[in-house]
Amino acid sequence: MGEGTTLKTFDVIVVGAGPGGYVAAIRAAQLGLSVAIVEREHMGGICLNWGCIPTKTMLRSSEVFHLMQRAGEFGLSATGIDFDLEAVIKRSRAVAKQLNSGVSHLMKKNKITVVMGEATLPARGKVRVTTDKGTEDLSADNIIVATGARARELPGLEADGDLVWTYKHALMPPRMPKKLLVIGSGAIGIEFASFYNTLGAETTVVEVQDRILPVEDAEISAFARKSFEAQKMTIRTNSTVKKLDRGKGRVTAHIETDGKVQKHDFDTVISAVGITANTENLGLEALGAKIDRSFVVTDAYCRTGVDGLYVIGDATNGPWLAHKASHEGVMVAEMIAGGKPHAVDPDSIAGCTYCQPQIASVGLTEAQARDAGFDIKVGRFPFIGNGKAIALGETEGMVKTVFDAKTGALLGAHMIGAEVTELIQGYVVGRQLETTEEDLMQAVFPHPTLSEMMHESVLDAYGRVIHM
Ligand SMILES: Cc1cc2nc3c(=O)[nH]c(=O)nc-3n(C[C@H](O)[C@H](O)[C@H](O)COP(=O)(O)OP(=O)(O)OC[C@H]3O[C@@H](n4cnc5c(N)ncnc54)[C@H](O)[C@@H]3O)c2cc1C
Repeated sequence: MGEGTTLKTFDVIVVGAGPGGYVAAIRAAQLGLSVAIVEREHMGGICLNWGCIPTKTMLRSSEVFHLMQRAGEFGLSATGIDFDLEAVIKRSRAVAKQLNSGVSHLMKKNKITVVMGEATLPARGKVRVTTDKGTEDLSADNIIVATGARARELPGLEADGDLVWTYKHALMPPRMPKKLLVIGSGAIGIEFASFYNTLGAETTVVEVQDRILPVEDAEISAFARKSFEAQKMTIRTNSTVKKLDRGKGRVTAHIETDGKVQKHDFDTVISAVGITANTENLGLEALGAKIDRSFVVTDAYCRTGVDGLYVIGDATNGPWLAHKASHEGVMVAEMIAGGKPHAVDPDSIAGCTYCQPQIASVGLTEAQARDAGFDIKVGRFPFIGNGKAIALGETEGMVKTVFDAKTGALLGAHMIGAEVTELIQGYVVGRQLETTEEDLMQAVFPHPTLSEMMHESVLDAYGRVIHM
């Protein structure tokens, strides 16, 4: 240990206070374990400060803006509809700050020792923290690494905060883009494209694969593309940005499609090409953990193969989502306390994209189900057939459900349309309870609700749809 440091011992040390880390810490404390959590920057991690929450706050502003523009459809009038980007961002930062303080409060409430500083793992069971005041050494039989991830940078496409942004810049923009290029059509890229496009930026999305939102069911991707194009977004699939020439207030992007390179000018580029885990410089490999392209290799229980060393959340296998991180945190804390929790099943982790229209899914896509050898039954129901959707003025969208034809097991659900990020939990609970088509058909859904589309989609898979 370094000179002048005192060794404090805990049952569990958590490194990183994002949703994975702080939830693991709370659950461990609830189970009677003494817990320290080390955080170098912000309580709540990327999720509360630079991810889930501030983006959704901004997207709410663009959604309300869009609704105000549609006032006439609802028999209302609104004139001089405009936005103040600075005020939109101010609200987003205030909400992030509020939740960040909430996490600090939860740490206090659960008697968790918070150490603010940069952690390394110099030996098994040891954590060294570099703080403002020097170094502090901590020890515990169990260490949970939840150090998360940052924006992945591709050579030549690096962010500079002015012309080329990562998600952090896009959350604190120096200006409103006029002509925006978004590289990458995963959830993060599409959410920013949707936000800035709705506020009036001329937006182009470039995606290397043959469709946008490539992890979603192909039918949903195609639906989303059509909808975004109707909103005047330009979508270039099968395309790569080979080079960015940065000039004064202008970026020329060299975009290759089918072997042909075309140059296009933009004033702003958002690079959303994935994430890199924060796993270097911690000392994990020296302890015996394996790292694959920045992500720590773990088993289904987040074990690294090194005694007492667990890695959860974005620092390990995907899906890289906050609810997966926090669920792993609970699982690992319970294991450490001697419990026998179930492993987290990645196929039961729902994915949500809060663009306009929203997208949500859980389980296998139709293609994945076929590829896995299932004989399947597929049901679909359009928003236009649902009374509540019509009443809300939200008739664009669909709900698709995939079943195993032999057993009736619910294999997957895929949705696009208003509020589907709230609706998907019905299917999540269904999968968790190992529901079949019979249970879902027997359930009585309240009327009028958007949730009735879940019912109708299930009925459609078995030739019993009513309102279509
Ligand atoms: C723009 C954007 C939007 C997103 N939207 C959603 C969404 O809507 N829904 C969703 O589920 N997910 C979303 N995500 C993903 C989500 O934010 C992550 O999956 C989630 O934050 C991962 O949690 P985590 O605890 O693993 O790591 P993080 O939240 O990244 O937290 C890790 C923490 O560890 C700290 N840390 C790192 N290294 C050290 C060290 N050496 N010492 C001390 N501390 C350290 C970091 O400072 C950080 O606070 C979004 C991400 C982005 C970027």
